Amino acid sequence: MGVGISGGGYTDTQTAPAPEFPEMRGMGCSGAGHRGGPSQRYARHGLKAVLVESIADKWFSDYLMCPDCGGELLFDGRAARCADCGFQRVDGALVDLRPLRPAPRQISLTVVPAVSPENRLNAIDTEQPNMSYDGPSPLRSSRGLMSEICRYLPEPGDVLDLGCGPRDQAIPLEYLGHRYVGIDRASSAADLLADAHALPFRSATFDCVLSYAVLEHLHNPIIRFWRFGRLSRC
Ligand SMILES: [Zn+2]
Repeated sequence: MGVGISGGGYTDTQTAPAPEFPEMRGMGCSGAGHRGGPSQRYARHGLKAVLVESIADKWFSDYLMCPDCGGELLFDGRAARCADCGFQRVDGALVDLRPLRPAPRQISLTVVPAVSPENRLNAIDTEQPNMSYDGPSPLRSSRGLMSEICRYLPEPGDVLDLGCGPRDQAIPLEYLGHRYVGIDRASSAADLLADAHALPFRSATFDCVLSYAVLEHLHNPIIRFWRFGRLSRC
């Protein structure tokens, strides 16, 4: 079980602008790189380290697609362009894959008339999970959640944190050996800016999709749940 807080350097972008330091381009966000020269050079100038890494170098780059049309995305640094529909986001402080064109979303749901909402509510397991997780605690405590993830995903996998906020759940998930990507509508700590109603990920890409205290912020949670299902490899 390894501790790999690979996103730590990227999170620093929330507290500092992205100055052009050419020597940092193309560097990975590994802990080794972050602890080395760049951080110290920035510290000497009273700045936090900002790692300017191309999105194409991220582990999840092959999973990405255009949020407007589902087409192939081309990346240049943190700028993104769709090869099919003209979607384009210029280089900014964060990789921005929020959709540009509102579009109707067609979904299909199976409704079982014999099952009442009351029965569905009664079927929800409200018992506390077996608290098996004893790793580091993030800003928002998630010991129960991580215990459930250990149960359903015992081997290292790819995890999407949808609505990651401060990106604090990267700490326990990477401690458990998972690859983590956090997206958010507005948080400057996120790996990507994205919209839960038009996710920029291909189907069947993640072993687990995590969403912590997000439902109440959505315009249409049903679309979000439908898109959740599409992302799962299970
Ligand atoms: Zn497109």
